[in-house]
Amino acid sequence: MVHTYGPHIFHTDDESIWSYVSKHGQMMPFVNRVKAVSGERVYSLPINLHTINQFFGLSLGPAAAQALLQSKSRSDISDPQSFEEQALKFVGDDLYQAFFKHYTHKQWGRSPADLPASILKRLPIRFNYDDNYFNHRFQGMPKDGYGAIVASILNHPLIELRLGEEFRRDDAQAPHIFYTGAIDRFYDYCFGRLAYRTLDFEVFRTDGDYQGNAVINYCDSSRPFTRITEHKHFAPWESANFSKTICYREYSREAQPNDTPYYPVNLVAGENTLPKYMARVREETKVTFVGRLATYRYLDMDVAIKEALEAARAWIEMQKHNT
Ligand code: UDP
Repeated sequence: MVHTYGPHIFHTDDESIWSYVSKHGQMMPFVNRVKAVSGERVYSLPINLHTINQFFGLSLGPAAAQALLQSKSRSDISDPQSFEEQALKFVGDDLYQAFFKHYTHKQWGRSPADLPASILKRLPIRFNYDDNYFNHRFQGMPKDGYGAIVASILNHPLIELRLGEEFRRDDAQAPHIFYTGAIDRFYDYCFGRLAYRTLDFEVFRTDGDYQGNAVINYCDSSRPFTRITEHKHFAPWESANFSKTICYREYSREAQPNDTPYYPVNLVAGENTLPKYMARVREETKVTFVGRLATYRYLDMDVAIKEALEAARAWIEMQKHNT
């Protein structure tokens, strides 16, 4: 199984979303344990007690490691706004330079000083040896892939699926539209294009095991890519059968008009275009915008699903109310 759009690990703290997804596909146990290469050394990620000890060449316990990072943290930053301020306050300059600064620059094409602190807050920092990349209670990998889950969701007597049709904003047959495409596209780019990052995957195949892990991040500036994904490690229940392996080298760049948009680009200072589209969104009564592209937010899969279900329920309630 290959993650065509880059590594997607399903994780959530919300039991109802976990059971919704599990109802539509068998979730196999999987815990994402990412490794990081920086300065030609391999470290544990997210930053945890092992990373701190590896990086500083020490054997500290939790309290001593916390004290060490406190001594390195920029205590003069009281209310961090940018990614950079948040990182310097959390972990200090050494770890920021090694793990965050260059990866973030490669990923977003912008200085971490211009990106919001919320991006860094996605990553936990731990003073124990827990190297689970996520903090959530539920985590797994769909045995038959995400496509099978979506197919199961769509397999409903009230859903008719039509593919390859031009989307029309003013479709008279649709009493209500739930729109999941890019928000600027919905309005025919009338206020200009919003910024998105797209990804290029350089696919390579080798014999055996290439890197011994599903995801390895390349955090310094010596390589132009952000990470390498070795897909068979996402499916350990079947990968033992494979003598060959498929990997993706992942490169991020600014999306051009015909590229697939992956990440909305939020900035600390904001910009002028998004509020104009959002003002139009607030005027809509027959359209609901859901998902990462339509709400222009860095949503994870579980939040996108949760908000979509809430939007559907709210609409059903409204229908009941109106009749
Ligand atoms: N990040 C980083 N170094 C890493 C991993 C992540 O600086 O080794 C930063 C980077 O800015 C990235 C953000 O943290 O965009 C969120 O990381 P995550 O792994 O959640 O990114 P995703 O898998 O959504 O691309």
